[in-house]
Amino acid sequence: MVFNDEIKSHILSKLCSYSEEGMIILDEQLNYLWVNHSFEIAVGYPARYLLGKPVSFYPIKDIIQKTDTLTHRLLQSLEETGYFQEDINRINRHGIAIQANLTLWKVSYQQNTYFAGLLRKIELSKTPQHTLRQLSHYNQFTGLPNESVFLSQLSDYLLDTHQHLVIVRFSIDHFDSIYNALPDEDITNLLQQLTQRIQQLNFSHLKIFAHFKMSDFAMFFEVEDATNISISSELEQIINLCELPFTLNTDRFYLRLSMGVSHHSAHGEQVDILLRAAEHALAYQQHHGGDGICWYTDKLNPKVLEGMKFKAQLRDAIAQHQFVPYYQPKFDLQTGRLKEFEALVRWQHPEQGLLEPQYFLQTIIESQLSYELFCHMLRSVIKQLKHWYKLDEHISICINADASEFCSPKFVPFITQLLVENPECQHRLNIEVTEASLMNKNEQTIDTFAKLQALGVSLALDDFGTGYASLSYLSYYPFDYLKIDKSFVENIENNTTQLNIVKAILSLASSLNMRVTAEGIEHQQQVDILKQLGCQYGQGFYFGHPMDAHGATKFIQNQLKTSHLNTKDL
Ligand code: C2E
Ligand code: CA
Ligand code: CA
Repeated sequence: MVFNDEIKSHILSKLCSYSEEGMIILDEQLNYLWVNHSFEIAVGYPARYLLGKPVSFYPIKDIIQKTDTLTHRLLQSLEETGYFQEDINRINRHGIAIQANLTLWKVSYQQNTYFAGLLRKIELSKTPQHTLRQLSHYNQFTGLPNESVFLSQLSDYLLDTHQHLVIVRFSIDHFDSIYNALPDEDITNLLQQLTQRIQQLNFSHLKIFAHFKMSDFAMFFEVEDATNISISSELEQIINLCELPFTLNTDRFYLRLSMGVSHHSAHGEQVDILLRAAEHALAYQQHHGGDGICWYTDKLNPKVLEGMKFKAQLRDAIAQHQFVPYYQPKFDLQTGRLKEFEALVRWQHPEQGLLEPQYFLQTIIESQLSYELFCHMLRSVIKQLKHWYKLDEHISICINADASEFCSPKFVPFITQLLVENPECQHRLNIEVTEASLMNKNEQTIDTFAKLQALGVSLALDDFGTGYASLSYLSYYPFDYLKIDKSFVENIENNTTQLNIVKAILSLASSLNMRVTAEGIEHQQQVDILKQLGCQYGQGFYFGHPMDAHGATKFIQNQLKTSHLNTKDL
């Protein structure tokens, strides 16, 4: 039998291909020249992807930094001794932890340098290192991959995919209040139940489902077409999972989710941009009542949103009086008369033009600037009320406040002082508080309510029906008004469920002696239905868009003219 070098190298190459150990050949710069099948399986990449790339499994920033130190050690050791050996711990492309021993030898041949390597898997045991790796790659409550695994997977797919990637960030609405109300083990239990429900949906295009922290989750899908309805319906399924209660001991619990979605490549090519886009969409959804999905659009992200710089800009903008109230009229549905204006903040940005609160309000609240904004808005509103008093002494203004304002010890004295100095404004200033901002039942807030009501300030519960534990707040806080959120009004003419909800809210409010405003009215039909149901007040684009002070003054003058003509007709 003939056995020569040619036959030997042929058989050796077969042996390498069949070997259960991962094998690689690298060039002088540590780029892959060849890998065997076992290596492809271990790292989760096909050879066509690896060849020509550096010896790193994850070409993204944070892992590259770690890999860089590995690369550095590798080079140093190979240069000095022609040999390298180290145990490595990595997550492969599919999120599976690989613990292996990597050995490399320097091979010089025909004036070229190569490195030949062997990747031997180490049996996984529950060693302290293993536990540590578990902790550093997986969320300890749910066992899901954590943020760093998510980022590495996403960046990896971004390099290689020929399809669309849909990036989803979601979180539990009002998690803070749930977190404060329940013991730790119940929180873990809830998070685990939610995770299991989502996993049971078995989405075929889902590439990774990760848990960053607390109620903060992320996932991404690889789909042929991100604009296709099927991905939206899969996301809807996640939101709908929460229609069934979660059980804790014998108690039943309802959770709501908000979701922000972006997709590659429409919203960017890079991990951080795509993730930020999904996070903006999530923040937008949370700020607009939560419990739903918001797909990112450029409109959500004007150029002003730039992290820390943005917070400093906001602070300056308050000091420079760049925030101005816009006024939206509210009508008495039964008499058809103008009753009040709601003051809605706008940012008159020197470069970006007029910006709506969705672009900045959340950051103002997070930066604890909302009290300063409130004071500034209140001063402007009081000035406006004084001016309008000369035109129509019945007009009132309501101003929005975040519930956190109520905690400031200066809040009541400040309002008291303004009302004492401007007696024409007494009984004509009202405050709206969103249900979502009233996280906890708070004795101090109740006390503030009583003081404000004694000053003749009416209080309205805004966005009713969109927050958490709505009914219990109604009996706890003595609101004068209740505002039905626009989501219940928008389809009232076609959707009997929404109609029934509005009827139920009206009868509940009447039994609690509260007056009701329906917001988001856009059509005559909605006015007719609400009027017939006995709803007292209405607000929405049908009656008027928010307008600047000058526009609102003209609006009042026109209303006065019309009502004067109507009286003359009689
Ligand atoms: P909100 O108090 O529920 O205000 C109503 C929002 O719905 C306003 O958006 C208004 O422009 C919009 N809207 C009014 N009528 C209609 C309609 O018929 N159809 C539709 N689709 N939308 C309508 P805006 O001005 O962007 O305000 C958003 C939210 O920002 C407000 O919701 C309020 O919660 C908050 N906000 C506004 N100004 C202030 C403020 O000065 N302080 C605080 N803390 N929050 C504010
Ligand atoms: Ca409001
Ligand atoms: Ca509202």
